[in-house]
Amino acid sequence: MKHEVESIFRSSGINLSWRALDAPRLNEVYSDLVVVKFHGKCNMDGIQLLFSELGPENEGGVLGSTKVSDGQVLPFSELECDRIRRSIAPLTIGNAPAELEAVLGHSMGRVLAHELFHIFANTGTHGHNGVAKSAHGRRDLVADRFEFAPGDTGRLGRH
Ligand SMILES: [Zn+2]
Repeated sequence: MKHEVESIFRSSGINLSWRALDAPRLNEVYSDLVVVKFHGKCNMDGIQLLFSELGPENEGGVLGSTKVSDGQVLPFSELECDRIRRSIAPLTIGNAPAELEAVLGHSMGRVLAHELFHIFANTGTHGHNGVAKSAHGRRDLVADRFEFAPGDTGRLGRH
């Protein structure tokens, strides 16, 4: 997940550094801080790789969200792991267990990159294509490449 987010943001000039919320507090100072919470099961253990899971794209609701208050995007995002893993399950049939975890990690990274777009661009609006578009389909999540559309990276840079 981290690698995917970093690769998506590589051309934006934004440097990301990761800390666990429960890690010991060091006297570190950050120019910007984003808190991400993960809900549900964030691995592919016990996922049912059945064709019957190939339901409509939006059956499970949003894959991620970011708080907004009085029109301001706040640096608090949440990822819905259960929905992400259910979304990609039909396209991961035949993958070895280790590959499954890698595909889930990439998918989570793409959803998180989308939420970080809202935060760094300080906007609730969406792009038309790529990571900033309003909904990620399961094929976007598992595609070999899924990046910001040209133009959307220029909107990043929180002030
Ligand atoms: Zn969005």
